[in-house]
Amino acid sequence: MDFSALNRTTIIKEMVSAEQDIIVIGGGITGAGIALDAASRGLKVVLVEKQDFASGTSSRSTKLVHGGLRYLKNYEFGLVRQVGRERAILHRNARHIVLPEKMLLPIIKGGSLNRFLTRTGLAIYDLLAGVKKRERKRMLNRQEVLKAEPLLREDILIGAGTYYEYKASDTRLTIGVLKKAFEYGALAANYLSAGSFVYEDGKVRGMKVTDLLNSDDYDITAKYVINATGPWVDEIRRKNDSLQGKRLHLTKGIHITIPFDRLPLKQPVYFDVNDGRMVFAIPRYDKIYIGTTDTDYEGNKEDPLTEECDVEYLLDAVNNMFPSARLVIEDVVASWAGLRPLIHRDGKSPSELSRKDEIFISDSGLISIAGGKLSGYRVMAEKAVDIVMKDHVRTTGKPFVKSITRDIPLSGADFVFPEDLRYLVEYADHKFDEAKQTGITPEEMKKLFYRYGTHIDRIIEKAYEYYNISKNTEASWIRAEVWYSMNHEMTTCPGDFFIRRTEMLQFFRERINGMLDIVCDEMACLLGWTEEEKNRRMKDFVREYEAAVSFKISNSK
Ligand code: FAD
Repeated sequence: MDFSALNRTTIIKEMVSAEQDIIVIGGGITGAGIALDAASRGLKVVLVEKQDFASGTSSRSTKLVHGGLRYLKNYEFGLVRQVGRERAILHRNARHIVLPEKMLLPIIKGGSLNRFLTRTGLAIYDLLAGVKKRERKRMLNRQEVLKAEPLLREDILIGAGTYYEYKASDTRLTIGVLKKAFEYGALAANYLSAGSFVYEDGKVRGMKVTDLLNSDDYDITAKYVINATGPWVDEIRRKNDSLQGKRLHLTKGIHITIPFDRLPLKQPVYFDVNDGRMVFAIPRYDKIYIGTTDTDYEGNKEDPLTEECDVEYLLDAVNNMFPSARLVIEDVVASWAGLRPLIHRDGKSPSELSRKDEIFISDSGLISIAGGKLSGYRVMAEKAVDIVMKDHVRTTGKPFVKSITRDIPLSGADFVFPEDLRYLVEYADHKFDEAKQTGITPEEMKKLFYRYGTHIDRIIEKAYEYYNISKNTEASWIRAEVWYSMNHEMTTCPGDFFIRRTEMLQFFRERINGMLDIVCDEMACLLGWTEEEKNRRMKDFVREYEAAVSFKISNSK
């Protein structure tokens, strides 16, 4: 069976047809990671997600798989070692999604790092994190920095260090993990909300769930329930009457996207802000995205919004470091806001709160996992499933099965050639050769390849099918991509497609108007929507489309 929107109801019915080992609540990166870890150890696992997969924090991050540089500040050497090694594993298992990117770290007068600290810090980081030789730190003097990045503010510049972060797509990573979990037998569905708990002898034995696409209710029974709902973790603990002790502290972080020619950086820059924080400006496609902020948050968790003051903060930060840019609010073409599910500590400011993950187990057996980072999802999943596995061994007498995810390539990353990036680029070029008779450009092909990896073959095949009939290059490729994402990634509506499968809203918002009709027609045709249903879906998406620049709209009122 395919991981298809057309199979969604069948998948849900299968979830309820027999007792499961584990129900995972939450289809962000944490839940997806747990589903893969558990299924690949032979456990029967189902995952329920009340919105779309990755629609919480896992589509709203800075999109970097970190090597742990920031932990050096607190002398957390063990953590730097662990995070650095983990990054190498994630790159190996998702070679088309997690890719190295050289960062420039300017050293400025009055900044948080001087030359000595930068040199020593980056050297320790290279050593502890096991950084590959060609990705090790380099120190640049003032002239060298200005050559590397002429837009930097000269009067405060002392020099710079370079180091590597790994760029990623948070949503593509989540979908890649989830699809792999499905291949291993995990069942997952979006728009399926976990309601109340089902108990037996005071222990959690399942959940009542509601299909939000048609309001059907179901009971799923399972031996264990894992709460991986990120910012919603305490809400689920409250339903379980187990919200005691440590609690979440949500902070909001926003990102903005501007056209590349408004800040034509030669590489990503991680730079100081006057208040002691640091901000990234990262080129991606024909845009630069800038982030992030870190402010306490208490509003609606489903829909955190970018506010004008958040945007002003980032624009001021950029204009201070790159004065010739003179960015204004009108330059911003898209934005997204996300919530960090951090663990509360009295008296700490948002930026001082630890990013570490923690697991809480309630008296009734609910396992809740909170905190953490996208970069650490695999290790977090292993920890959560180890807890289940130990109990499973105790109650069934079966042997303990260790996690094997360190050696599982994600869906679309089953490459047969060696790890060197050269081969990946050659492979992508080869795919362009196969597709070029449809008129697709190398740039468009590259984008699709880094989204879908080895699954690109199915999309090429489908694009030819459409192209041979219509001879319309753009429409054929969009339809082929929509077809693939509905039939193989459980895409159910325009928002799923434009935001969480392709990130077009974040990076190509200006192109969406020209595509919306084609996408909705293809969806209506595959899912049998009436004209009324199609218009309703389109309107729903237009609201999300507008929310990406809502601060501009409120500004102009
Ligand atoms: P989420 O992605 O929020 O997933 C939880 C899911 O649970 C949601 O999809 C929600 O709909 C679902 N859910 C809630 N209630 C229910 C219910 N009742 N039934 C069913 N489903 C439910 N980390 C990095 O490693 N690198 C970065 O560059 C980075 N940058 C960041 C920048 C910002 C601004 C923020 C906010 C975070 C950043 N992080 C980064 C952290 C990282 O994004 C998060 O740690 C991670 O995405 C959390 O994933 P999650 O699965 O735990 O939560």
